[in-house]
Amino acid sequence: MSASSIAPAVPSPAAAPAAAPPRMLVSTNPSTGERLGEVRVWSAEEVRAAVAKARIAQTDWAARSFAERADRLRLVRERLEAETDDLATLIANENGKPRAEAVTAELFPIAYLINYFSARAEGMLSDEPISMPLFGWLNRGSKVTHRPYGVVGVIAPWNFPFAIPMGECVMALLAGNAVVLKPSEFTPFVGEAIGRLFAQSGLPGGLLTVASGDGSTGAALVGAGCDKIVFTGSVPTGRKIGVACAQTLTPCVLELGGKDPMIVCEDADVENAARGAVWGAFCNSGQVCASVERVYVVESVAADFLARVVQKTQALRQGSPLDPDTDVGPMQNRMQMEKVEAQVAAALASGAKALTGGKRSAARPAGLFYEPTVMVNVDHTMGVMKDETFGPVLPVMVVPDENEAVRLANDSPYGLTASVWTRDFGRGEQLARRIHAGTVMINECVWTHAACETPWGGLKESGIGRTHGRHGLMEFVQPIHLHENRWPDQPSYWWYPYSAGVYRMFRGATAALFSAEPSKRLRGAWDALAGFLSRGKISAGSTSTPPAAPARRAP
Ligand code: NAD
Repeated sequence: MSASSIAPAVPSPAAAPAAAPPRMLVSTNPSTGERLGEVRVWSAEEVRAAVAKARIAQTDWAARSFAERADRLRLVRERLEAETDDLATLIANENGKPRAEAVTAELFPIAYLINYFSARAEGMLSDEPISMPLFGWLNRGSKVTHRPYGVVGVIAPWNFPFAIPMGECVMALLAGNAVVLKPSEFTPFVGEAIGRLFAQSGLPGGLLTVASGDGSTGAALVGAGCDKIVFTGSVPTGRKIGVACAQTLTPCVLELGGKDPMIVCEDADVENAARGAVWGAFCNSGQVCASVERVYVVESVAADFLARVVQKTQALRQGSPLDPDTDVGPMQNRMQMEKVEAQVAAALASGAKALTGGKRSAARPAGLFYEPTVMVNVDHTMGVMKDETFGPVLPVMVVPDENEAVRLANDSPYGLTASVWTRDFGRGEQLARRIHAGTVMINECVWTHAACETPWGGLKESGIGRTHGRHGLMEFVQPIHLHENRWPDQPSYWWYPYSAGVYRMFRGATAALFSAEPSKRLRGAWDALAGFLSRGKISAGSTSTPPAAPARRAP
């Protein structure tokens, strides 16, 4: 583990001699191998204390008006805008994505998200009256109100260390929750920067806490009594969190991995599809849950498509994320790069062919640079087509037609995003509807996490629940049903005492309202009326005894 590892800190002179030294995360620049610094790992007790403090702060926060909460978060947006250059540099240095990408994919989308939800969330969270076409006749009224969960635990990955947790924190806070955030151990300084942005914007103390640390800190947060957990990361960790949440019946959102397919139809604009494939596979060095991870191209356009993809891949400029002309930076950590190397090596050993790339870059041995790689002769027996790669690798399979492409796209345990490339929108939508994925894009790929008004989330092993969009906002509130009987002095017809009359009234109403036969509806109406008039007459026996037999005239 080179990009970030854990080391004991030098004990402070003030510490008691017997106290164990705090554990530290060491953050490393993946482009140069330089050490960026250390961040302390929070203990389980500290995490529990942060949750307790958050619970106190949340009560007052939820009682404030939405406008007041939104004003506070607009201040966060202003700080973000003022610090954009520094934040882009920090993200480039710690995560490795080019600075331009830090702005397009991490900073701009969050400024937009704060803007969008500050203006719209109040409407989305307002009370929803429920139409009661039948019980309205009995003067009943119902509505749903939305109550914040309380304390939300957010656990984040390293690939979008700013945009993913920030979006979740902002939406949780706007909905009236407090948050404890556990950033990735690979990008702890971006996590600290998030904490600073909120603190400098004058949020009440304890309302948002950043608890730095590794998996043990994340596990401590899941066990600390949060009211909801929102996790983004790998399937194996998501499974562990799902199990831990089940023990305490804590609801959770799990945003997990993907193996996102791209289908290139025979009528696609091949040049545009090739450009999309290259960007979709290699942005953020392929370390995107929604990266184009596999392509199915129809035979008739395959040669043209592949030639363009290879030419564009070879033209990519790989280098320092701080260089404004860099297209592709390093991978974020050694562990991930080794996974990619192993997957590519296994595919090559099974007969796959790398048309370009297929190895670490010799040009920058100090950094974690892996050459953008295009592979052919691949199939579904290979990990590179079945398992998440999460690196700069684009395997392309030639298929006879779109039906086979859809079949192969769905032959996966994942279902996060997918894309279809065609000039025929009707056909594109028909194909899109057959693909098992939470988001399917036509002539576009990867990007919709940045469009915060759209829902984000996966099917199958790609996760549970949604972030972003109205559906994502609703993950931060519980629907509370309020019901009114607007006849305050009227007992309900279904209350005690039961009697043969009550039975006859409701049996008759069932037929009168729901029978398909007019004669039964008519007889049911008569029974309902007769039952209504006689309902006060208690049957033989006690009030709790139902009628001995169904009404004789029931069909
Ligand atoms: P990871 O699962 O290794 O770690 C994610 C977070 O979980 C980290 O903060 C880590 O410290 C924490 N963690 C680890 N063990 C834990 C435990 N037992 N309990 C609680 N927390 C624990 O994932 P990663 O390597 O950081 O991220 C890459 C993965 O995330 C990829 O699979 C990628 O597809 C996925 N991802 C998904 C989305 C999405 O929106 N669906 C977005 C980004 C990344």
